[in-house]
Amino acid sequence: MSHGTGAAALHEEIRAEVKKLCARFPGEYWRKADRSRAYPSEFVRALTEAGYLAALIPEEYGGAGLPLSAAAAILETIHAEGCNGAACHAQMYIMGTILRHGSEKQKRTYLPKIAAGELRLQAFGVTEPGSGSDTTSLRTFARREGDQYVVNGQKVWTSRAEHSDLMLLLARTMPKDETRGRTEGLSTFIVDMRAARTAGLTIRPIRTMMNHNSCEIFFDNVRVPAANLVGEEGKGFRYILDGMNAERLLIASESIGDAKWFIAKAVAYGKERIVFGRPIGQNQGVQFPIARAHAEMRAAELMLREGCARFETGKACGEEANTAKLLAADAAWAAAEACVQTHGGYGFAEEYDVERKYREARLYRVAPISTNLILSYIAEHVLGLPRSY
Ligand SMILES: Cc1cc2nc3c(=O)[nH]c(=O)nc-3n(C[C@H](O)[C@H](O)[C@H](O)COP(=O)(O)OP(=O)(O)OC[C@H]3O[C@@H](n4cnc5c(N)ncnc54)[C@H](O)[C@@H]3O)c2cc1C
Repeated sequence: MSHGTGAAALHEEIRAEVKKLCARFPGEYWRKADRSRAYPSEFVRALTEAGYLAALIPEEYGGAGLPLSAAAAILETIHAEGCNGAACHAQMYIMGTILRHGSEKQKRTYLPKIAAGELRLQAFGVTEPGSGSDTTSLRTFARREGDQYVVNGQKVWTSRAEHSDLMLLLARTMPKDETRGRTEGLSTFIVDMRAARTAGLTIRPIRTMMNHNSCEIFFDNVRVPAANLVGEEGKGFRYILDGMNAERLLIASESIGDAKWFIAKAVAYGKERIVFGRPIGQNQGVQFPIARAHAEMRAAELMLREGCARFETGKACGEEANTAKLLAADAAWAAAEACVQTHGGYGFAEEYDVERKYREARLYRVAPISTNLILSYIAEHVLGLPRSY
């Protein structure tokens, strides 16, 4: 089946290498981890050792210095091969905040170690129980005390917190009612969670419908050196926003990979399963949902490419990144539905991997940003309609 790829710019060599790596982690590996909600450490180690998680770290800091489209190709392939990049995808893009806004000292301290796999920067502490979509309502507070900040508050849905050494934390450094604008008074910190876990930081895993290693985190007078503030105090929200286009494009690439996996799986089963004396895939009622999901996936793929091309040439890409994320998450979900339906009862059997991928693919219509919030972005920022919230 053609996926419409072909040019060198689409990183065919990287895709082929990632595919080989993924072959070492077949369905059985993921099923086993899923059953016990175990972290896929071996898979993450293999990706780290092969340098894929350091794809976006510049060569001068020990990374591969690859463009965003290469990182997208890596994550898409992981998902198209039935694996799950959610175990480590954030390591690829959270470091962008340090790279763009951190001091030279912070970059030299952290980036080479992250690139070498000695330090894991997997945790991104933004969401709180009272602020998901409405990020700027967050309440976790970092109070300056001499050469330290004292952090109190709570985060939720901090993925991979138990498997990360560092966390990029967004916290309030000025009470909301004292700020001049909604987006002010928030700051970004690098938190060393290894040290903090014995000094006021509590991590509690949340059991979810898929194996995602997400946690709630409590800060009880956690002390963070002022040297770990990224950029200027009070401008943290802007720094986080800056990285969101890259995040959205990379998550879109994972959903495109998911869609490709579901479509390939549905097509194979549609050809092989004989009912009423003929392959079920000969029936248009079975073909059409798969064909429609394919068309939707291709549209998302083209938007992703445009978004990456604009990002890589320094052009504004908010419209493309948001649209790609929306279309890709929807295409993956349409493909997941078609795949389950094509498999009939077997779509529910663990050993086919369809039900596991179905559970995993659903997330991206909600996180890291929900479909409604993307539609609001398009309505307001692309179409010029009045802000709705
Ligand atoms: C498995 C998982 C992993 C995650 N990992 C991380 C992580 O690592 N770090 C992190 O910081 N966060 C993480 N998140 C959090 C995620 O980003 C939020 O769940 C997401 O932003 C939505 O926020 P919420 O859950 O509070 O939903 P809410 O903001 O409460 O929204 C609930 C629903 O209402 C809709 N809604 C809200 N306001 C409007 C409006 N004005 N107009 C129309 N519809 C609206 C939303 O679209 C959504 O469907 C994760 C979440 C999950 C489930």
